[in-house]
Amino acid sequence: MRNTTLEENIALWRERIGNASARWGGAEICAVTKTVDVDTINRAVAAGLTTLGENRVQEYLSKADRLDPAAHVHLIGRLQTNKVRQIVGRVAMVQSLDRDELAAEMSRRAVAAGIVLPALIEVNIGREPQKGGVDEDELPAFVRRAAALPGIRIDGLMAVMPFVDDPEEVRPLFRRMRGWFERLRDEDLPNAPMRVLSMGMSGDCIVAAEEGATMVRLGRALFGERPSKTEIQGG
Ligand SMILES: *Cc1c(COP(=O)(O)O)cnc(C)c1O
Repeated sequence: MRNTTLEENIALWRERIGNASARWGGAEICAVTKTVDVDTINRAVAAGLTTLGENRVQEYLSKADRLDPAAHVHLIGRLQTNKVRQIVGRVAMVQSLDRDELAAEMSRRAVAAGIVLPALIEVNIGREPQKGGVDEDELPAFVRRAAALPGIRIDGLMAVMPFVDDPEEVRPLFRRMRGWFERLRDEDLPNAPMRVLSMGMSGDCIVAAEEGATMVRLGRALFGERPSKTEIQGG
């Protein structure tokens, strides 16, 4: 049996995600391209996956100039404040905004560059001490503070679920995220349009799509296993 091609794999996951998210009107696939080479990334972009997720600033910048210009790159990994300068104007979105210091620096650098930088607020919905993300209890206040800054716009929420063997275990957490998303969206806060709910990775994306993700972030499902696990935290 021959290997499925990347293009076939993309079509397969599009169909699966489309079916799982049908009652919500569909969910977009963000192709997570950490450790993936530029030629392969550009094949995915040509196949229509124009939203890419990278989690390390250095790795992204090393590939940026060779990417298909149709690509919109989202930073999805933990972002150090001192690296904001390098990505403002070079990414379409930061999905991992989770602290005031980072929000202030993103806004300051974006204002200086004459742009508005779209951001998602990362929520530590599983309350895992080793993970980034805002605590649920602090979420509404944090969204308000971030949305008040002139250089960033709060487009929605993002979450990384606890790693579990059976994705059904985290279904209640996806549901909680959808609840927060709708509550904050319905508040109609200025500068916080809340149109993106980014949750679900290769192992749990079907459950995430069923529970109302508007975007799932797929790495291994599309590109195969990565060489190592050292890249998870980003930086
Ligand atoms: C690596 C990564 C993903 C994709 O993970 P897969 O299991 O390969 O689908 C999604 N989100 C974040 C924040 C990541 O770091």
